[in-house]
Amino acid sequence: MDLLDKLEKEGTLSAGEFLSLYRMRNAIGREKLFARARRLRDTAYGRDVYLRALVECTSFCRCGCLYCGINASNRYAVRYRLSPDEVIDAAGRAYRAGFRTFVLQGGEDPVFVKDLSTIIRHLKDSFPDAAVTLSFGEWPEPLYAEWKEAGADRYLLRHETATAGHFARLHPAGQTLEHRLSCLQALRRLGYQTGAGFMVGSPFQSEEDVARDLAFLSSFRPEMAGIGPFIPHHDTVFASCGAGSVDDTLFILALIRIAMPNVLLPATTALATLSPTGTRDGILAGANVVMPNMTPAGEGRYELYDGKKRQDAGEAMRKEIEAAGCRMAMVRGDYRD
Ligand code: SAM
Repeated sequence: MDLLDKLEKEGTLSAGEFLSLYRMRNAIGREKLFARARRLRDTAYGRDVYLRALVECTSFCRCGCLYCGINASNRYAVRYRLSPDEVIDAAGRAYRAGFRTFVLQGGEDPVFVKDLSTIIRHLKDSFPDAAVTLSFGEWPEPLYAEWKEAGADRYLLRHETATAGHFARLHPAGQTLEHRLSCLQALRRLGYQTGAGFMVGSPFQSEEDVARDLAFLSSFRPEMAGIGPFIPHHDTVFASCGAGSVDDTLFILALIRIAMPNVLLPATTALATLSPTGTRDGILAGANVVMPNMTPAGEGRYELYDGKKRQDAGEAMRKEIEAAGCRMAMVRGDYRD
């Protein structure tokens, strides 16, 4: 059987089979591949593209991820931390604009997370029909449990790479793939809709690494998958590395959709940063989520990589989504089994 047929039928492949498929990426016809991904997405979710209001809450971070512009050792990074009231105001503005999911994201900031339960409770009391997604990195399970108890619905924590040796080259000693995976397991145990994912073209990434990432995702089967190209940041050790490939990112989005028709799959800001048609092309490859930035204006200092685009939910976004044959959906947009 053809590997794509097998992927669609069985929802997974071995790492070796993913590697064969990935190596053939430039020979596989994109039109047919993307059409297959869209057909599966449309069967699962229709033509709705879910909008999530992204609030970048803090650029303080205790981690040293070597690829990331806000890593703790970047002394040039501009640091800010929104107050609980500022987060709640930003979410309120998003709610009034029609959003029904708030994505609160930030560095691993012990000061910010002290107030996180209070913020979540406030949001759930004020906007009971909206979902709260968190993305604040690795924390002890009891803290994840406290946030879940406060009402959080979803958690995004990319695994970054499923290859331990590769993980070690992207992170300082002390951050391990093993611990990252244990956090993902904890989130799942606690009942979060859980998101994993990786950067395409991260430094040292081999085709074998990508194959292992795909095998990992299709066996872990997260409810959400965040896949975007790596983009260098000038104040990191990877400043002179090339950015990931837009074409490879689109290919991987389509494979993930075929493996997991129900996954919530964003066309990421990184993709839109590298390509003016990134959002449209991501949706055409099978994505069904976008995350416009609703961080208060003036806080645009969450610089993970150079040139990071500020996506908003205006006409330009609507046009990109409609150009991909879909419609903007301002609903909770939960995972469907
Ligand atoms: N601290 C939280 C965490 O680690 O999950 C959330 C914020 S973290 C900055 C969000 C994601 O940004 C990471 O999972 C990583 O994949 C992505 N990212 C960081 N630096 C990047 C870069 N240079 N290019 C593309 N994506 C990057």
